[in-house]
Amino acid sequence: MSSSDCIFCKIASKDLPSELVYEDKHVVAFSDTTPQAPKHVLVIPREHVESIMELSDKELAAHILVDVIPHIATNLGLAEKGFRVVTNVGEQGGQTVKHLHFHILGGRDMQWPPG
Ligand code: AMP
Ligand code: ZN
Repeated sequence: MSSSDCIFCKIASKDLPSELVYEDKHVVAFSDTTPQAPKHVLVIPREHVESIMELSDKELAAHILVDVIPHIATNLGLAEKGFRVVTNVGEQGGQTVKHLHFHILGGRDMQWPPG
């Protein structure tokens, strides 16, 4: 899928609406429209990258994991009790939107193994 018909590119460029949680020069985060937990936020790079398999920008990867996700989790009040970070990759991984996204899920006890 090219970036021109990618819904998450459109959310990043604000051509599609979203409930924005965080944004900076490189990253956008917004509420998932079908939440799987009381708090369910998606973190995406502005740049169209299909999945972590195509993620070559180490600075961007570190920014998302080291700066953005902990910042958002803290703002959502999830830091103390904990939360889950998931990125689905490809068909068997359950990836439905082919633009890299990290799910932040929290506000309830999580189960393991995941479905
Ligand atoms: P995945 O199955 O890992 O590819 O996750 C895609 C996620 O995107 C799902 O949790 C959907 O509920 C969510 N989603 C799809 N369209 C939108 C949208 N327009 N705004 C916010 N979340 C969306
Ligand atoms: Zn995209």
